[in-house]
Amino acid sequence: MKQQILASDECPFGCSTSESALHLAVLCPRSATIFQLLGLNVSNFQTMSDLFTIGKISCLPDKKNAWDLVLIAIMWNIWIARNRKVFDDHNIPPVVVARQCRETLKLWSCRLKNNEKQAVDHWIEDWRD
Ligand SMILES: [Zn+2]
Repeated sequence: MKQQILASDECPFGCSTSESALHLAVLCPRSATIFQLLGLNVSNFQTMSDLFTIGKISCLPDKKNAWDLVLIAIMWNIWIARNRKVFDDHNIPPVVVARQCRETLKLWSCRLKNNEKQAVDHWIEDWRD
């Protein structure tokens, strides 16, 4: 909307809510579903910062080293799916977005240091279909 591509700042998924970063990330029911499909409960997060801080505290020790990367992979795929909706009017189902999060993490994991890679492998293992 700021770049005058869209006429409204409403969430493109029909929430009748302003599309803030926090809405797109976790408050949108669609995003909450994606997190839920990945075994993550984000219902208590009130700020973007909570995602990084509380989310990391809530991680199991063997996964903690990869939390920031996991979060960014999820947000990246939510963003891509949001843009497909906005620019192509194509609705990628949450289950597909969740699967894409796993594929993104796999792709990115080859660039990680050993301790991060081990943590990512645990996330990927847990996200198996
Ligand atoms: Zn929404």
